[in-house]
Amino acid sequence: MPYVVTEACINCKHTDCVEVCPVDCFYEGPNFLVIHPDECIDCNACVPVCPVEAIYADDELPEEYSHYSEWNTYLSTQWQEAGYVITEKKDPLPDAEEWKTKAKNEDDIQTWEDAE
Ligand code: SF4
Ligand code: SF4
Repeated sequence: MPYVVTEACINCKHTDCVEVCPVDCFYEGPNFLVIHPDECIDCNACVPVCPVEAIYADDELPEEYSHYSEWNTYLSTQWQEAGYVITEKKDPLPDAEEWKTKAKNEDDIQTWEDAE
């Protein structure tokens, strides 16, 4: 039952989550983070530190975010292969505050190819 990062994380990068993960299983895209399902040990440590409540256990995912389970699997595999593991907190994206209240969805997730 791995944990899953959902929509609220898009354009955030507060990255409080990566600091508390004991197994370093967060992977970073240009404007989104994901959890590798084969590495997550279901410890729950990341859930209370995420300022926008973006992380859920996959069996507690709200219906509207159910597809994020696949996104985390797909993107974490890609970003792991590309070497984008993230283990240290960094500054949030400059427009993170603005995006907090903005409507967003999976189409807003960027990949490294998009960012190039
Ligand atoms: S703290 Fe939450 S919103 Fe911020 S990067 Fe981590 S999962 Fe995403
Ligand atoms: S539940 Fe634990 S192991 Fe899984 S991503 Fe969160 S902090 Fe890491």
